[in-house]
Amino acid sequence: MEKNSKLIISSPNIQYTDDYILSDFEYEETLVTKNANEIVVKPYKKSISIRTGKKIGKVGVMLVGWGGNNGSTFTAAVLANRHQLSWNTKNGVQDSNWFGSITQASTVRLGIDEKGSDVYIPMSQLLPMVHPDDLVIDGWDISPLNLAESMVRAKVIDYDLQQKLRKEMAGMRPRPAIYDPDFIAANQADRATNIIRGTKHEQYLQIRADIKSFRDKNKLDKVYILWTANTERFCDVRVGVHDTSDNVEKALHNNDKEISPSTIFALAAIDEGCCYINGSPQNTLVPGVVERAESRGVFVAGDDFKSGQTKLKSVLVDFLVAAGLKPVSIVSYNHLGNNDGKNLSAPKQFRSKEISKSNVVDDTVQSNRILYKEGEKPDHVVVIKYVPYVGDSKRAMDEYTSEILLHGTNTIVVHNTCEDSLLAVPLILDLLVLAELFSRVQYKQQQSAEWQSMHSVLSVLSYCLKAPLVPQSAPVINALYKQRACIENIMRACLSLAPNNHMQLEHKVP
Ligand code: NAD
Repeated sequence: MEKNSKLIISSPNIQYTDDYILSDFEYEETLVTKNANEIVVKPYKKSISIRTGKKIGKVGVMLVGWGGNNGSTFTAAVLANRHQLSWNTKNGVQDSNWFGSITQASTVRLGIDEKGSDVYIPMSQLLPMVHPDDLVIDGWDISPLNLAESMVRAKVIDYDLQQKLRKEMAGMRPRPAIYDPDFIAANQADRATNIIRGTKHEQYLQIRADIKSFRDKNKLDKVYILWTANTERFCDVRVGVHDTSDNVEKALHNNDKEISPSTIFALAAIDEGCCYINGSPQNTLVPGVVERAESRGVFVAGDDFKSGQTKLKSVLVDFLVAAGLKPVSIVSYNHLGNNDGKNLSAPKQFRSKEISKSNVVDDTVQSNRILYKEGEKPDHVVVIKYVPYVGDSKRAMDEYTSEILLHGTNTIVVHNTCEDSLLAVPLILDLLVLAELFSRVQYKQQQSAEWQSMHSVLSVLSYCLKAPLVPQSAPVINALYKQRACIENIMRACLSLAPNNHMQLEHKVP
């Protein structure tokens, strides 16, 4: 199918108006009840209406940690694509692309053609989505370097492309940010010269003023705030401080030492009505912050980009367990030499990363009671070492040992070398594009009911996140293909299309 062909859904269940795509959708599930002797399985259907707003408006993004490797590489990628730049490398002339982004570089199966063959279209063509070229970018960093200097420091972008981007990026300078040496590694102190002084409440007010001025100056309809700054240590979650929205606010006014810089950014974003996305592992989105987002009808998502090792783990373990093999030992070793690695070489910041990497196989393991007894888990160890020479080119080595037939063992070893930021940046884009899209999706169960937005905790973004935050009591899904199917099938529901079932009965029966 041509990239720019118009998609027309020919169904009595869909209506296009000037403002919305309206879909009537039959949601099918199966209720399972168990007692001592029986498992009773009852299929059911729910008729729901879904509407997707067609107007995207002008979208801005503010990155916390804008001058970091991810922040500068994201900016370079948006500009390189926007200007359709080509550059010379030792392998010849290269063109810009968005490889690694599911919204920009992956396709989805739409259906079959007359001959029964699958038909695919770019995911970005399914529903109206913001185009990366149209994003207006701004942000904060504790380091004062402009974005051209940051790009040079990051050593990620090819030299010739750097030259082509240098002038435009030199005009971009991060706003002063909140620096609290108690939360990031001591080894970051020398770059922290671009900072907002004052109490935590004064810092919060400054961040709100920054968001307002960015929005007003650029006449933006929506602003997304995304944390891609250094990993903080976990805050010590306490009753009376972090448990309710009111208590978080009180603690902010009291300058409580356990209100982290990232929590201040999140509060400011929510209070400005802006979606907040946490790309690092720390526990920014404490219960009181989530409650505040819910009460204000603002979206939040987190935690920690799922870019490399964990992404593969969430595929490989799913495959092994679904194949009836029993992973019993998963040992993951990393070394990297960028500033993220330097920060993570401090024990408390490493601990945040260790926690976010640790639960990724839990849902898959729990799904198979033949292989694992209640409470049983594989041994799972994660090591991260800082080796400056390798820079952003992270090495990840993983050993998966599984028990196979009659207690034999099978060991798979994976070695991955890759520029970390070139994996993370497409995820940053997808998080923004998908968050913006799902902010326009609303549903109702009865014709007479009010339209409702999706839950404030935007767990549909889990595909991009290592330790997905989900609404209270909702199950956490880490398995990558379930996460992707969720995105794809919700988009299909918005178009009144049934979920992809991959049965291909056309070819299975005479
Ligand atoms: P980086 O160290 O290059 O960039 C982080 C930037 O944040 C730095 O420029 C630093 O000066 C700035 N900073 C620190 N504290 C700040 C604060 N309070 N406010 C504003 N700016 C602040 O790191 P990176 O490689 O760009 O990674 C960024 C984050 O993303 C890290 O926490 C990392 O763990 C996380 N992450 C990265 C990947 C990946 O593949 N690159 C994957 C998952 C998670």
